[in-house]
Amino acid sequence: MRTFAEPEAVLPPDAESIMEEALLEEGPPDVKGVRTMTAQELRFQRRITALFTVGPLIGVVAAVIFLWGWGISGLDLSLFLGFYVLTGLGVTVGFHRLFTHRSFETSTPVRAVLATAGSMSVQGSVIDWVATHRRHHAYADEYGDPHSPHLVEEQGFRGVLRGLWHAHIGWFLRPQRTVTSRWAPDLEREPVMVGITKVFPWLVLASFFLPPAIALALTGSWGAALTAFVWGSLVRIFLLHHVTWSINSICHFFGKQPFETKDESTNNWPLSVISFGESWHNNHHAFPTSARHGLLRGQLDPTWGVIRILEGLRLVTRVRLPKPGKIARTWAGEPKTLAR
Ligand SMILES: [Zn+2]
Ligand SMILES: [Zn+2]
Repeated sequence: MRTFAEPEAVLPPDAESIMEEALLEEGPPDVKGVRTMTAQELRFQRRITALFTVGPLIGVVAAVIFLWGWGISGLDLSLFLGFYVLTGLGVTVGFHRLFTHRSFETSTPVRAVLATAGSMSVQGSVIDWVATHRRHHAYADEYGDPHSPHLVEEQGFRGVLRGLWHAHIGWFLRPQRTVTSRWAPDLEREPVMVGITKVFPWLVLASFFLPPAIALALTGSWGAALTAFVWGSLVRIFLLHHVTWSINSICHFFGKQPFETKDESTNNWPLSVISFGESWHNNHHAFPTSARHGLLRGQLDPTWGVIRILEGLRLVTRVRLPKPGKIARTWAGEPKTLAR
């Protein structure tokens, strides 16, 4: 496990106890493009995090109770899957492979659709998400990485649990905020991205209320609207949240490392289908600008499949892939067979 020497904590004069505590835990932000939130911002951030993590969790509990009694209706299952795929691809094709890493190019309308769909995953606005993720790659598993599981001081099993908790959810509760003008100036110059970032709270509302509205329109039943809200909104948002966060926690801790990288990223096959190919995370850290993450034979990468389809429809161009020679030079051990 990596550790870091804790720098002397410097507390702002107006810091409140909640803030002092967090600063003492993490030390002052001495990395580029990070600022410390005010106590008020931190309080707001923590409340929002609690609302959007505990709320969907309540939905999951409700869904278990519904399932126990009546099972899941075809409509609820369709809404759950439909919105999971739509918002999930918004994150993987849009937020991650296009906006963060520019692994392909596309038109403004397609960029707008992807940014809107990704925003509806309720994981922050497109510009914030991209800025945070670029910082993650810049400092991967070093001090300055917003969500590495390897930066806790504590050793042993407790240290492992604390590190995984921090990487999964705990980092939302810290006072360090990624400065978007430093990490995503390209998106801040793009009027469409700025507009979609401004309406982010409305897209969150739409993400919660569209599934029940569709169910109500189709059936005229408030009961159907309620179960659609549980499955299509709460359970779906809960699942996608935890799958995405698992890339930060599990995929920097458990799994294989076929490539030589400076960080602790891993490939984790059980998460590959549900994360749409994002869990080939060691491949991704080795070749961040590759539009394909499942580079080796047998590695399922549904996001890559979608990018290929969009390319076939001529909606995307200049798709970037690493050269086979470069892949071969980056093996950590035995050569593997590349995906075709
Ligand atoms: Zn990573
Ligand atoms: Zn990435």
